[in-house]
This record gives sequence, C-alpha cells and structure tokens, in this order.
Amino acid sequence: MGRLARTEGLTDVQREILATVREFVDKEIIPVATELEHRDEYPTRIVEGLKELGLFGLMIPEEYGGLGESLLTYALCVEEIARGWMSVSGIINTHFIVAYMLKQHGTQEQKDHFLPRMATGEVRGAFSMSEPGLGSDVSAITSKAVRDGDDYVLTGQKMWLTNGGSSTLVAVLCRTDEGHPEGTAPHRSMTTFLIEKEPGFGQVKPGLTIPGKIEKMGYKGVDTTELIMDGLRVPADRVLGGATGRGFYQMMDGVEVGRVNVAARGCGVAQRAFELGVSYAQQRHTFGKPIAQHQAIQFKLAEMGTKVEAAHAMMVNAARKKDSGQRNDLEAGMAKYLASEYCKEVVEDAFRIHGGYGFSKEYEIERLYREAPMLLIGEGTAEIQKMIIGRRLLEEYRIQG
Ligand SMILES: Cc1cc2nc3c(=O)[nH]c(=O)nc-3n(C[C@H](O)[C@H](O)[C@H](O)COP(=O)(O)OP(=O)(O)OC[C@H]3O[C@@H](n4cnc5c(N)ncnc54)[C@H](O)[C@@H]3O)c2cc1C
Repeated sequence: MGRLARTEGLTDVQREILATVREFVDKEIIPVATELEHRDEYPTRIVEGLKELGLFGLMIPEEYGGLGESLLTYALCVEEIARGWMSVSGIINTHFIVAYMLKQHGTQEQKDHFLPRMATGEVRGAFSMSEPGLGSDVSAITSKAVRDGDDYVLTGQKMWLTNGGSSTLVAVLCRTDEGHPEGTAPHRSMTTFLIEKEPGFGQVKPGLTIPGKIEKMGYKGVDTTELIMDGLRVPADRVLGGATGRGFYQMMDGVEVGRVNVAARGCGVAQRAFELGVSYAQQRHTFGKPIAQHQAIQFKLAEMGTKVEAAHAMMVNAARKKDSGQRNDLEAGMAKYLASEYCKEVVEDAFRIHGGYGFSKEYEIERLYREAPMLLIGEGTAEIQKMIIGRRLLEEYRIQG
C-alpha cells in the first residue's frame, strides 16, 4: 500500500476489514477486471466472493445478521473495490442504498422480512427514480400507483436501473395521489414501493418487464436496464414505511449516503489511475531517460497525487460527519463533486502518460478512461451538486438584517 489516501484513526476491526478487502481486490478482481469488462460479462465469481466476505451486509445491523459497520468503513471498502473495478462497486451500491432505506424508514415487518436475506446477499437490491424523461428533476416523476383493495396498481416506465436485471428487490418511486388533498406539493405525493421479483430479463412477473441490458460506453459487466410497469400489483404492506407521501424524502436520504459512496468510487478509480501512471512513467524511456525524470511528467504526477489525497480527505470527512449523526448534505455534495471531477482529471493525466499505449485495449487505463465519466452523472450531476452546495452555503452564510 502506498503513502497516498491513508485514513488516520481507524479501529483494529476497520483496518482488518480493509486489509481483507484489499487482498481480495488485488488477487480476485484486478487480474480479471479488464477482460470481463471488455466482454461485458457479469462478475459472478467476484460477487460470490463478496458474499463470503459479508460485504452485502456490511452496514446492516448485527441483529439482522449484518456486520453493523459505519458509513466510513463502507466507503473505504468501496474505494478499495473501485480501485479494482468500478462496476463491482456499482453492484454493491444500489443494494446498500436499498438496505439503508429499509433500515432507516422500513416498518418492523419489512426489516425482518428483507434485511437478514439482504445481509447474506440472497436478496439483492436496486433502486429506481429516473425515467426516460427525467433524472435530475425527480419532482417531475410520472409513474403512478393507484390503490385497489389491498393492493396498489403501478403503471409507468423507469430508466437506468443499475442491477435492474440481477436484483430481486427494487425500491421504485411512484406518484400516489391517494389520501392527499388537491394541490399537494409534488414532493409530498410520492411513495416508495418495494417490488420483489425474479432476477433476469423479459416479463419477470405479471405487469413487470425488464427489457434487457442498456449498451454502455463503460461501467460494463454490471447490468443497467429499463423497467416497465403495466398494471403491476403491489400489496399495500410493501409501501416503504407503511405510509404514502414520504417517498421523495426517503429516496433523497438514500441518495445522500449514495453520494459519499460515489465519491469513494471516484477516489478508488483515481488511485488506480495514479498507480498505473506512476509505474508506467518509470518504465518508459524517451530522450535517454525514464519519462518520470522529465519535469512535465513529474508535474503531472504531483498534480495527480495531490488530487487523490484531497478527494480522499473530503470523502472521509463526509462519511465521518454522517456517522456522527450530523447533517452531511453539504459535505457529501462537495465530496461527490470534487472526487468525480478529480477522478476524470487524474485518469486523463494517467492516459496521457501512457502515450499511444493508453489508447490500446491491452492497457488498463483505457478501461478507466471509459469508466470515469459515469461518476460525473450518477447520484446527481456536477451541476446538481453545485446547486445543493450553493444553496447550503447561502443558508450558512446568510447576511443578518
Ligand atoms: C450508468 C448509469 C446508471 C444509473 N443508475 C441509476 C439507478 O440505479 N437508479 C436511478 O434512479 N437512476 C440511475 N441513473 C440515472 C442518473 O441518476 C441520471 O442520469 C442523472 O440523475 C441525470 O439525469 P438525466 O440523465 O435525466 O439528465 P438531465 O436531468 O436531463 O440533465 C441533462 C443536463 O442538464 C443539466 N441540468 C439539469 N437540470 C439543471 C438545472 N436545474 N440547472 C443546471 N443544469 C441542469 C444536468 O446537470 C445535465 O448536464 C443512472 C445513470 C447512468 C448513466
């Protein structure tokens, strides 16, 4: 392990978990990641290994069979995993968000029913807000749920579900007008439904179709799908938390911890790009010396290392703030924004250091170059992060009088 991106003040348990994950990443993920990614192949063996390590239950409380660890431990594990292959961190991320939403907002029956099986990885989560016509503007959601006896009947089309095919539990945000007076604010007429389904594609249950994988430029291996609901019946006891109208706030709570997670991914991918760049720069010779001895390349390495260190520090700060029970939306937004921008820049510099070989599919940096842009978009784009950061700063620094 290099000097960069170390975290002070970890417990022995945290250090032990991280060492185990790092060893797994070095032995089981890095050697196969690029080949699997090029084939767009789901990493079944890696997922089985993660289950054995207990990573699907890392933050699930011990009473439900999880490890009951903190957001910081989780984020540091995600950083390690993304250093190996970002797609694998995507497989865990939506699972983690759904488990977190259940833990925070679920009824006792929902927690008892889902969390023990989520801790083992038997039940795997996906979460779904985006639609073909909207992503940033969640308040414009059009998918609808209408009460019919003991069920709700769901209709609408969802877009961009990470793990849409492989998951067996999807948290879906729909509009519900039932029980709300006329003129209710859009945010207060949304509900999260917990939809259980079989993994796979096509019609996975009556009224629910997962059409197939969306072809992507990067972030391959993990499946990203649409989801079509056409008269899908969901029992009323599968409304998250048991009451309608709270879905927007539940999803935003999930996305907030998801942002720390995306920041951690950015840190991991940037670290790997730095490792590849600093290694190549010492092996490649031009004009009679290793390119690392040219000042222009040293300056790149200096900038890359500084960005890796800064992004890591902000990500750790955001996670610790949440763990201490404080509001962390400002810190999470800043960490997500900075880590994803720096990740893109560090990856680009590592790519430039590789010269022409960076353009070859034989070199790992080619994969990283296609993966980094996803972080600029997922869990809220850079523009949306800046809106959140700007609003919060104005709240904090409001002029009196
Ligand atoms: C690979 C992948 C996986 C994903 N996984 C999931 C998932 O699991 N679940 C899920 O629900 N969603 C998922 N998403 C969707 C993702 O959250 C959205 O793509 C993202 O929120 C942006 O929404 P959009 O694509 O509709 O862009 P838009 O909202 O249409 O934005 C387009 C552009 O306009 C900018 N913009 C929008 N509004 C404003 C404004 N008010 N001011 C300034 N600029 C603005 C945006 O920043 C962006 O640059 C995934 C996306 C991808 C690519």
